[in-house]
Amino acid sequence: MAVVETRGLRKRFGDTVAVDGIDLLTGEGEYLVLLGPSGCGKTTLLRLIAGLESPSEGDVLIGGRAVTSLPPRARRIAMVFQSYALYPHKSVSRNIAFPLAAAGVPKDEWRQRIHWAASLLGIEHLLDRKPRELSGGERQRVALARAMVREPEVFLLDEPLSNLDAKLRATARDELKQFQQRIGTTTVYVTHDQTEAMGLGERIAVLEHGRIQQIGSPREIYEDPANAFVATFVGAPPMNLLQRNGMLVGFRPEHFLPESAAGGRAGLQRLSFKVGRVEYLGSDRYVYGRVPEVDPEAKVVAKLPSTVPDVVPSGETVPFVVPLDALRFFDRDTGVRKPPPPGPIA
Ligand code: ATP
Repeated sequence: MAVVETRGLRKRFGDTVAVDGIDLLTGEGEYLVLLGPSGCGKTTLLRLIAGLESPSEGDVLIGGRAVTSLPPRARRIAMVFQSYALYPHKSVSRNIAFPLAAAGVPKDEWRQRIHWAASLLGIEHLLDRKPRELSGGERQRVALARAMVREPEVFLLDEPLSNLDAKLRATARDELKQFQQRIGTTTVYVTHDQTEAMGLGERIAVLEHGRIQQIGSPREIYEDPANAFVATFVGAPPMNLLQRNGMLVGFRPEHFLPESAAGGRAGLQRLSFKVGRVEYLGSDRYVYGRVPEVDPEAKVVAKLPSTVPDVVPSGETVPFVVPLDALRFFDRDTGVRKPPPPGPIA
């Protein structure tokens, strides 16, 4: 186990600044997720940590040791990419053994190491098969076994589940989490999928334009977003944002409920919701509309659990409420989080 640190890390490709001055420090054995939209620099950051790219500026430290000028193989890291790139003509066992040969590990140690990695991932019964005889999830486990057979101090995973279908992805995510808890290797995991990030990460670093926008536990990121970008990138549907007096007023769709369903609780902000379309989704209903008294332009969505009675007819204006402590405020121009202003918002 080792901590991963980056100091003032920057990477330019011509005019593009892919990574723009990143300072990052993982905990020992931590599962850190890098989350952000396509092109925000996640993969480049991971490749810089791995040594597959060299930085334009800044340093990478692994286990407190500067490794910026060292090649990947000297960094005691293992990487698993989106495409596992298993050798199709080699058996699972030989695929797992491949890094041992490359690292010059004596042959009499191979068997024991292969079985150790395979048993941790529950694939011992597959060792004689070829990759084409495996399911997507099994191939992913072989790729992980191959990555860990050298007993790395750090795992770097780049969207390793994106080739799997939705159901298998949920299972694989669960397995990956259990596996990491068992071995406790520091892991940096790249994804653009927020469900994956929330489910796997001890902490999440949200990136945009090559910069970390916020780093914190999934709960901190969701409940206390540092700026309007994080507020709207994390959460589905995203946080509602309405313009009011030079500020953006934010609240999550699940906090926006019909007044009749709020049971007369105190500490509520009342808002008249002009209901447009209602979408029935089984466990929830999404109700789309506007709150013209605050911001006539902004689209607003309420996420109502099926336990809330159907009291929102399309085309009508219905009294809705948001708990005051669920309101979040951001600067309209910079998007930076602000303290709540005095007085009601409508
Ligand atoms: P995705 O989720 O789509 O994989 P990402 O967040 O991983 O995106 P990167 O692949 O790190 O993003 O790319 C960040 C930026 O750097 C993008 O604008 C990309 O076009 C650019 N970039 C990445 N690699 C190179 C390269 N080798 N040459 C030139 N530009 C590059």
